[in-house]
Amino acid sequence: MSTKWAILGGGLTGVTLARLLSEKGDEVCVFEKEAKTGGLCISEERNGFTFDVGGSHIIFSRDTEVLEFMQNVLEENREFRNRNTKIFYKDLFLKYPFENGLSDLPKEDLFFCINEYVKNLVAVEKGEVAEPQNFKEWIYYTFGKGIAECYLVPYNEKIWNYPTEKMSKHWMDGRVPRPPVEDIIKSAVGIETEGYTHQSVFSYPVVGGIEALVRAIETPVLDKIKTGCEVTKVERAGDGWKVTAGGDVYEVDRVISTVPLHVLLPMLSDIPQNIKDTVGALRYNSIACISVGIEGEIPDISWMYVPEMKWGAFNRLSFPSNFSTKVAPEGCSSILAEITYNEGDDISKMTDEEIIEHTVSGLREMGLAGDNVVHTAVDRFKYAYVVYDVDYLENIKIAREYLEGLGLDLVGRFSQFEYLNMDGCIRSVLNFVENKS
Ligand SMILES: Cc1cc2nc3c(=O)[nH]c(=O)nc-3n(C[C@H](O)[C@H](O)[C@H](O)COP(=O)(O)OP(=O)(O)OC[C@H]3O[C@@H](n4cnc5c(N)ncnc54)[C@H](O)[C@@H]3O)c2cc1C
Repeated sequence: MSTKWAILGGGLTGVTLARLLSEKGDEVCVFEKEAKTGGLCISEERNGFTFDVGGSHIIFSRDTEVLEFMQNVLEENREFRNRNTKIFYKDLFLKYPFENGLSDLPKEDLFFCINEYVKNLVAVEKGEVAEPQNFKEWIYYTFGKGIAECYLVPYNEKIWNYPTEKMSKHWMDGRVPRPPVEDIIKSAVGIETEGYTHQSVFSYPVVGGIEALVRAIETPVLDKIKTGCEVTKVERAGDGWKVTAGGDVYEVDRVISTVPLHVLLPMLSDIPQNIKDTVGALRYNSIACISVGIEGEIPDISWMYVPEMKWGAFNRLSFPSNFSTKVAPEGCSSILAEITYNEGDDISKMTDEEIIEHTVSGLREMGLAGDNVVHTAVDRFKYAYVVYDVDYLENIKIAREYLEGLGLDLVGRFSQFEYLNMDGCIRSVLNFVENKS
């Protein structure tokens, strides 16, 4: 007998679940509170520009099955590009990642980075450096004081909006190895070395921005999706569940939540205080994405990290018109700035006009814009990044055990509460659909 599923949230995870569960013959209904599906993967067309307003997205993955899925659903609507990523450091465009662009550094900084890298490496080999206990210690332990202080600590503190010594290092273990000394020396003397090669060629929809991916995935299940339909209550009903969404009550066999844990909890009744406190303690960042349309050209860069505060609060600038020629009007180019923030901080108190002025003046200082700005907009998303603080592992275990113990299934970036990119979300869906009992 087929199962009847309620899927809470119609972001990339929700629509992919709907498609794959339907293909298995199950009955699904997706409830999405916004007027359209997509979540963080939405794109808006305004004044002839198409921007990914939940942050700049590209399609890449080490997971070949997932990568093929994303590329196949887009059919002809995709283009491949070579990554040309930079770090804006002291007026210079450094090659990314930082440790592969050392020869671009001013001489003093170059010496600081290599000298400290080698000193640290020797000390680590001799067992003189204690095992790192947090993210900041992990950065120093892996790269040495020079690379840490010139780039990795300031950049990470900007994007996470949180001190690196208060962050966990578990998500680095096995993911980012110490660069071999040969690569550091090669990079320092200017011999080309490449890092993060799984991203060196990426794809992107020709038209429609990243939202085109969501539209392509949901096509076969459009009639199973209810938009403008906020879920407000989820309760047990015999062996199944009752879901209240958009004011109506739906009876289903099982519920999969893809909405943030912080949003799911108030939908449930009789939650113990310790669970409320635990979920409340899970940290996340919000994002403001500033779309800037330019008349004229921009440098041939895919995206650029900006560790220093002096240029502005944005940690990353992307150049969407370099991903597809169809996302900006003829003769125009586009820049998307991303600023992370938390409720109550200075950025959260700025009006959209102030954020635009702040961003555009930074772009002018950096030489990326002049009097040629023809379009601006700000879009904010409350749940943008999971922040792995030092209590994360303990808190997420308690929260997951409790919610899964109720019989709820959790899939997706803020439901699993993990740093999942689109490929990670789709992988979670594939695993879920395969293993569902
Ligand atoms: C700045 C930035 C850049 C990124 N760049 C990339 C990239 O280049 N490549 C990549 O692979 N990934 C990238 N990602 C990650 C990618 O955006 C996510 O992995 C993916 O969008 C998560 O999808 P999701 O469906 O799990 O969550 P979400 O997109 O958060 O979807 C959750 C959905 O639930 C809905 N919802 C919430 N509350 C309710 C409710 N009460 N009732 C009904 N619906 C509700 C929301 O409206 C939303 O649509 C980026 C993320 C950010 C923040």
